[in-house]
Amino acid sequence: MAAAPTLSYSGFRAYAECPLRWKFLYVDRLREKPRSFFSFGRSVHAALERFVAPLVVEGGLPGKGPGGQRTLRDFSGPQTDPSVAQTPMDLSGLLGIYREEWVSEGYTSAQEEESYFDLGVDLLTRFHSVYVKEPPRPVAVEKDLRAELEGVPIHGIVDRLDRTEGGGLEVLDYKTSKELSLKDAQLSDQLTLYQALVEQNYGRPVESLTLYHLRSLSALRTPRRPPEAIQDLGIRLGEVSDGIRSGHYEPRVGSWCRWCDFRSLCPEFKEVPAGSRERIVTLVDRYAELLSERRQARQEMEAIEEEMEGLALGLGVHRFRGSRLSLHRQARRSWHFPPEATLPLLRAHALEVRAGGGDPDRTAALLRDPEVPARLRRLLAGQGKLELRYTWEPEGSDPH
Ligand code: SF4
Repeated sequence: MAAAPTLSYSGFRAYAECPLRWKFLYVDRLREKPRSFFSFGRSVHAALERFVAPLVVEGGLPGKGPGGQRTLRDFSGPQTDPSVAQTPMDLSGLLGIYREEWVSEGYTSAQEEESYFDLGVDLLTRFHSVYVKEPPRPVAVEKDLRAELEGVPIHGIVDRLDRTEGGGLEVLDYKTSKELSLKDAQLSDQLTLYQALVEQNYGRPVESLTLYHLRSLSALRTPRRPPEAIQDLGIRLGEVSDGIRSGHYEPRVGSWCRWCDFRSLCPEFKEVPAGSRERIVTLVDRYAELLSERRQARQEMEAIEEEMEGLALGLGVHRFRGSRLSLHRQARRSWHFPPEATLPLLRAHALEVRAGGGDPDRTAALLRDPEVPARLRRLLAGQGKLELRYTWEPEGSDPH
């Protein structure tokens, strides 16, 4: 197998949604069409990067000994470090940068471009007024970080990293999208990945993770992820990495297909060429006939099984002989676990992933796993229900 690829959040997400689209983007290097909302986001991000960068105090991390706590506020008196700007640039400076960084591609009309541009002016103006009133303590902007998670090389560019009042680190990701909620921040794999990157590179725990919604100037802030969430993301990154290394690029249809620029290349959406149509119609029609016969056969077999079940119970006999084969009535055991009772228990013991999110077979496998504490196995068994059903299995010569 090939070497493990370095995964960014966008690469991970692209493969997790559709491996074939990932191949088009990262192996075949096909370009996607420019789109207004991407261009707008890039313009605003670039302006904010240049606005905040001069205010960064790279050493604004808790240091050793007196004077180690270097932050922007430490520079609020006379300028002690010439590399640190004391005050943010004024609004006209910020809007000047915005104009320079404006990306003009992807807009469907001049009016659309103008209205996006004005939206950017509005949100940057409001951002500026909040920023100068309550200056944050940035220690990095657009920070390019690399690390490893569960053996998978990872990479990300963190929009902004701030010092918190308490001396911790806050990861911020700017969003220019229309709607954003706290739940988005709580569920964001991107923020989880950034936490892992920052903690490994800075050697100290992240305190909070924030999606910064620029249109409403809302900081959607969540506490740092627990170790299980980092581990869970690591396992999913590993699955993606294994798929890429093995060259598995199957298409996966979903809501994302609506925005996919590669539909004309995708076997899920491509039309059959005229020369092959006739043969394909013949094959599909015959297949449809066989499907219908199979359905009828299944219905008839179910009716026979029901009658034999009644006879087996009435006669107390488990083996019925025909002229071509015998059928043996066999008991099958299967576990059923009510998710509302089992999932909290699995979660509390960090076993949800191993149990496949409550998959009955994988949960049942934990009952026989000596690594799972005996008391927990009994608790799980107590919440599950062992069900018994009977099937009729052929014995003797092959009826075919
Ligand atoms: S159209 Fe859908 S299934 Fe096909 S490559 Fe694009 S995202 Fe994947």
